[in-house]
Amino acid sequence: MSNLDSLTLNDLPLREELQGKSAYGAPQLEVAVRLNTNENPYPPSDALIEELAHEIAVQARELNRYPERDSVELRAALAAYITQRTGVMVTEANVWAANGSNEVLQQLLQAFGGPGRKALGFQPSYSMHPILSTGTQTEFVSVPRDPARGFAIDMPSALAAIEEHQPSVIFVTTPNNPTGGISTLDEIRTLLDAAPGVVIVDEAYAEFSEAPSAVTLLEEYPAKLVVSRTMSKAFDFAGGRLGYFIAAPAFVEAVLLVRLPYHLSVLSQTAAIVALRHSADTLATVDMLISERKRVQAALQGMGFEVVDSESNFLFFAVGEQVDQHQVWQAFLDQGVLIRDVGVPGYLRVTIGTAAENDAFLHAAEHVVQQFKH
Ligand code: PMP
Repeated sequence: MSNLDSLTLNDLPLREELQGKSAYGAPQLEVAVRLNTNENPYPPSDALIEELAHEIAVQARELNRYPERDSVELRAALAAYITQRTGVMVTEANVWAANGSNEVLQQLLQAFGGPGRKALGFQPSYSMHPILSTGTQTEFVSVPRDPARGFAIDMPSALAAIEEHQPSVIFVTTPNNPTGGISTLDEIRTLLDAAPGVVIVDEAYAEFSEAPSAVTLLEEYPAKLVVSRTMSKAFDFAGGRLGYFIAAPAFVEAVLLVRLPYHLSVLSQTAAIVALRHSADTLATVDMLISERKRVQAALQGMGFEVVDSESNFLFFAVGEQVDQHQVWQAFLDQGVLIRDVGVPGYLRVTIGTAAENDAFLHAAEHVVQQFKH
């Protein structure tokens, strides 16, 4: 098949805006300690696995049929969870679910972005926001966060950029990935007041923070605010692929126009419903991860690393201005610890794992300090 193998991407009539771009690429390497994609390190409980196996066996008898297209039972379960967590009464009419919050965000961009429209985000932040924008032919405008204030959003430059670009979509990630800090409700309100279009508050890591959810602002900003969430992080369900948003029912009507029919398989819907039934057990791991995060932060600081304050399940730490962070990333990998170089010069991100994984990371960090000491 040499004709096929010798063909390169440059030989294909790719859309112009995709030319020269690189694909989302968190390396998936077989190493002992994997602290690079912000998953929950604890496997699901035996009780959850048992119930899941039973439910899947029941559902499997009907796999010849398409799934329930609008995932109503699952959306009702997600709504009950959000009501219980935030105190805001929402129902399935306010909730939309898809294969990971990535798909939710893509559907929102398909509905509210597109040719001639702009999306605006505050970087460094989640790398898929610009990638999904490009994929939907939405121009992405990047506004730098303020490194001197823990990478908080720089409000004067944010407001100036909104005024200048009139974005159809604004992304606010809180807690922010990769930096870990939050945006306050007051800041989000200010952005909502200035926004000419839709504001997507990406709360993928909300369960790790005590800050109130932007869901509490929905009543005030029904036509502008969408809050996206995921079961991939605190919920221990990254492999299950389930993300969702909470908003006014009109936003659900909007994404119905662009979603693929039957996008959520019977297996995904069933698994997510079972996982939600066990949410109390699963979320018990959150407290352990938070106390581990504090321990790792203090230990890193003790070694002389500057660490950004985090309300999530990862830490963003400075490796020093004189040092190439990719070399440091490689030095961790050489010791069997995979962390994340998100491409921010001088910084690396580590996901909080089990106590043993965190010990392995800290042990490797001690070596790194010796290796890169000047
Ligand atoms: N938003 C943020 C801020 C994330 O960090 C991630 C995962 N890294 C996602 C959304 C997407 O997660 P998923 O598609 O697994 O729900």
